Amino acid sequence: MEPPLTVGAWTMTADSTVTEPIAAAATTTIVADVAIVGGGLAGSLAAAVLARAGHRVALVDKRAVYPDEFRVEKIGGPQLEMFRRLGFIRGLASVACPYDQVLNVREGKVVDVSVGQAYGLPYAGLVAMARGQIPDPSSLIVDEVTAVTCSDDVQHLELASGRRLNARLVVLATGMAGALGYKLGIRRRVLAAGHSVSFGFTIVRRDGTPFDFKALTCYGERTSDGVDYLSLFPVPAGMRANLFMFRDPTDPVMRDLRRDTEATVLRLLPGLQPYLGDFRVTDRVQNWVMDLSVVEGHLQPGVVLIGDAFQTNCPAAGTGVARLLVDVERLCTEYAPRWLATEGMGKEKISEFYSDRDKIAADQQSLKMARFRQALTSRDDISWDVRRRLHFLRRSITHRVDQMRPGWLAQVRSALRA
Ligand SMILES: Cc1cc2nc3c(=O)[nH]c(=O)nc-3n(C[C@H](O)[C@H](O)[C@H](O)COP(=O)(O)OP(=O)(O)OC[C@H]3O[C@@H](n4cnc5c(N)ncnc54)[C@H](O)[C@@H]3O)c2cc1C
Repeated sequence: MEPPLTVGAWTMTADSTVTEPIAAAATTTIVADVAIVGGGLAGSLAAAVLARAGHRVALVDKRAVYPDEFRVEKIGGPQLEMFRRLGFIRGLASVACPYDQVLNVREGKVVDVSVGQAYGLPYAGLVAMARGQIPDPSSLIVDEVTAVTCSDDVQHLELASGRRLNARLVVLATGMAGALGYKLGIRRRVLAAGHSVSFGFTIVRRDGTPFDFKALTCYGERTSDGVDYLSLFPVPAGMRANLFMFRDPTDPVMRDLRRDTEATVLRLLPGLQPYLGDFRVTDRVQNWVMDLSVVEGHLQPGVVLIGDAFQTNCPAAGTGVARLLVDVERLCTEYAPRWLATEGMGKEKISEFYSDRDKIAADQQSLKMARFRQALTSRDDISWDVRRRLHFLRRSITHRVDQMRPGWLAQVRSALRA
């Protein structure tokens, strides 16, 4: 077992602080209870939860500030309750744009209106918020972990700067980057290559007037287009657009969407024109091609994988954050504190996390939703055609009944459940 820290803060290392220049710290060995590799949303939230509970946590990320990269940009629904339970809701509300109504349209007509609190913000802002909740945020170790050696007792990490990090537990929250896990014999099994394509950009009206909606979702009109939906919602920089598609990533329409975004969006979603008016894109159009994948060979002593490092998600299904929140909550409020209270960090401890009922349910739900959204968008056989029509018809009828008799349907539903 490594000797415990003799100084108060976990940022102190065996012979210096981790904040000193890398060259001067080249021989430093940092000691912590938990080493978290990857300070995206999953790793940063995990670091904050564990550090708040008094554990010595070392969070290592290659970058001091998360770059302007397109990932999840809106948080709402059940995710909010989990942010609240983990103690991040005030932080989220302080940096994001709130909205509480989404107008849902298809073929130019209103399907229904979703009501419920939600927040829009860039992913980098979300990660910065999470890192800001770590009791000593300046303690983030900006470095790249190049190797991990795991055992039943102490785990050893090598950093690109030459420093070393010893910890009882390693949490790999490295997102879609699989290199580190690969060195441990952890493989990614691709379930669906190029499963979905996503585009993110910000829009304004050319005449500078605001849009007539708080937020809007426009569903695809033709299965051949492969458009699931375009989601428009407020972020601090304006009106953000997330377009989610199930279509061959090499199709020329992908290039059109990058080069002539406004015209291509309206070509794919003509019913959107009256809602948007004359608009333009104000920033770089970012796009992602997403594989659905899950790891294998991950049950090893001393190391646990969370978030995208364990399983990737379909952005259209919007389950990535729910999954990583379940991972963080179960690991950091239940398992890790219990594991650290006794000697050893063998496989039998680690397997408790991977067998957790809530975690398994969230992972399976994510894959199920990914397949459902793809089929609902692009399957054109009769059974899915009927299902699609019924899906939107049911929503539309419910909405109309709700408009005529507000609250009546909710009463009927709760009476049926009783
Ligand atoms: C385009 C797109 C849209 C999405 N939209 C939604 C949505 O609407 N709703 C939803 O719920 N989910 C959505 N998701 C999914 C969601 O964004 C992800 O599930 C989530 O961001 C994963 O976070 P993470 O912390 O696991 O990984 P990441 O945020 O990728 O973080 C990984 C971190 O690890 C660091 N790292 C990697 N290797 C090393 C190393 N060796 N040493 C040090 N640091 C390292 C990286 O620098 C990075 O900071 C979307 C995803 C994409 C791609």
